Amino acid sequence: MSDTIAIVGAGHAAGELASALRQGGHEGRIVMVGEERWLPYQRPPLSKGYLSSAGEIDGLYLRPQATFDGARIEFIGATRVVSIDRAGKALVLSDGMRLAYDRLAIATGTRVRRLATVDAARADVAPNVHYLRSFDDLVRLRPQFVAGRHVTIVGGGYIGLEVASAAVKQALSVTVLEAAARVLARVTAPEISAFYEQLHRTAGVDLRTGVAVRGFEFDADGRVTAVRCRPAGAADDFLVATDLVVVGIGVVPNSELAAAAGLAVNDGIVVDETTRTSDPDIVAAGDCTRHPNAIVGRDVRLESVPNAVEQARAAAATLCGQARPYRTVPWFWSDQYDLKLQMVGLSHGYDRLVLRGDPALRSFTAFYLHDGLVVAADCVGRPKEFMLSKRIVAARVPASPESLADESFDLKSLVPANEAIRS
Ligand code: FAD
Repeated sequence: MSDTIAIVGAGHAAGELASALRQGGHEGRIVMVGEERWLPYQRPPLSKGYLSSAGEIDGLYLRPQATFDGARIEFIGATRVVSIDRAGKALVLSDGMRLAYDRLAIATGTRVRRLATVDAARADVAPNVHYLRSFDDLVRLRPQFVAGRHVTIVGGGYIGLEVASAAVKQALSVTVLEAAARVLARVTAPEISAFYEQLHRTAGVDLRTGVAVRGFEFDADGRVTAVRCRPAGAADDFLVATDLVVVGIGVVPNSELAAAAGLAVNDGIVVDETTRTSDPDIVAAGDCTRHPNAIVGRDVRLESVPNAVEQARAAAATLCGQARPYRTVPWFWSDQYDLKLQMVGLSHGYDRLVLRGDPALRSFTAFYLHDGLVVAADCVGRPKEFMLSKRIVAARVPASPESLADESFDLKSLVPANEAIRS
């Protein structure tokens, strides 16, 4: 009996899913269809080391072509899936072909949110305005990332701040414009935002918060020469003259394909704990999904490599008839300058923040408590504490703020013997 599993998308989740399917014992055909021309690759280096190096795509691949070939995993690149014909069990591809499937996995990821200024359409085609999602975006940006130039970065989230750090390393002068009152506002506490704002300003970045981008000035060739901005509450705009612009203002899930096929969608493709969509023959994994997370206690859509990898493995297990609940504590990392930030749990809704260590020494952990339980931790330059924090947050243990703040207190004692998860 033929049992073809098709995978829509060929990013991080798709690559992991395809390999895990074979390892999990799926004997039938496995076909990944990706809009990009590349095999599945890692995106994190795009805003980190790859911006200041001449790194090629091969260094980013999750697995080389030979490994996929050896596992009989087919890859159709540079091809978009334009619709899912659920009744006919086939994918309709951008080249007009149909690809029949028995079961389907959707791993379409996210795309960048684009600026919505009045002149956004013109800025979109300006040769010196950049977004950073794909290797092709990097290839377009890298030649302009030259010492002595001025880069204006729109957005003080992870991507914007990582690009700022890479730009400083490359001796560009840098302005960061953030519309919110502080950087990283969506993901971290004001104390951590303040730490990162100071880190960037000390490195020479002209970082401005509470400043909205309103538009651009263009030269006769359509290049942006300045960014027009307005501080919150002000009546007038000001201009930031610039050589290039990098925009990092978040992403939106690629869920339209699933929605058009009649699958449940709610800011992401809705999946259950075993990654099944509202159609039992279709699973979904990675940035494009919203899943019930027992550890966090609510439905979440995560944008991270660990989620893409673990959820993809759970999806493969489901398709191999070994369904198990996907229950992993969310975690994330960001590299800026010589500092690694590692975050575990979701801090949203915390009622107490405890600092362990000294931000002035660039080595500390911020623990987030809710009702006395440790729900999240941000570790700056503390990899060992991060490993322990992962276990503590996963187990949602109670802890006293005094113990957490006390560097002589052994955090290991908070890890439960059986590491049972409190739901
Ligand atoms: P993606 O990797 O986005 O893959 C989805 C693929 O599907 C894409 O190639 C897309 O083109 C394709 N696709 C979409 N629609 C279709 C269609 N209709 N037909 C065919 N193909 C389609 N995460 C971290 O944890 N740590 C980090 O430090 C970090 N840094 C990052 C830095 C950058 C610059 C970026 C862009 C991301 C970073 N991330 C980081 C996020 C991480 O890369 C994503 O969470 C991860 O790639 C998600 O994997 P995915 O497979 O769900 O989606």
